[in-house]
Amino acid sequence: MRKHEPMKASPKASTLAAIFRQRCPRCRLGGIFPYSIYRGFPGMSERCSVCGLKFQREEGYFLGAMYISFGLALLIIAIIAILLWMVTGWWITKDVIWAVALFLPLAPAISLFSRVLWIYLDQAFDPEAPKSAPR
Ligand SMILES: [Zn+2]
Repeated sequence: MRKHEPMKASPKASTLAAIFRQRCPRCRLGGIFPYSIYRGFPGMSERCSVCGLKFQREEGYFLGAMYISFGLALLIIAIIAILLWMVTGWWITKDVIWAVALFLPLAPAISLFSRVLWIYLDQAFDPEAPKSAPR
């Protein structure tokens, strides 16, 4: 006997799910990247293919994302180093060096992911109007 779980059909995915799936912060349907950031280093879509939201609002827009990715990198390296230290009991410097080495393959995904976070933050504090009216 198979149990059928009730499907919750919500028109908008939760914010967190949308961030992890790199969806447009406004419509939650269009992708920010042409393909998943977990599968490589895709170029960024200029606009949402569904609602037309412009992702890169101005030159240097992603400077803030660099700070986020720096913070995330430090956090992840610290977590890996602490885990290594707990498992291996190595001298902490050795743990940190290994943590950095283990982190490096993740770095491109982290930097793209931080852009997604940045877009969400920016849209949360300063949302673009649904219809881009001329100023
Ligand atoms: Zn959109």
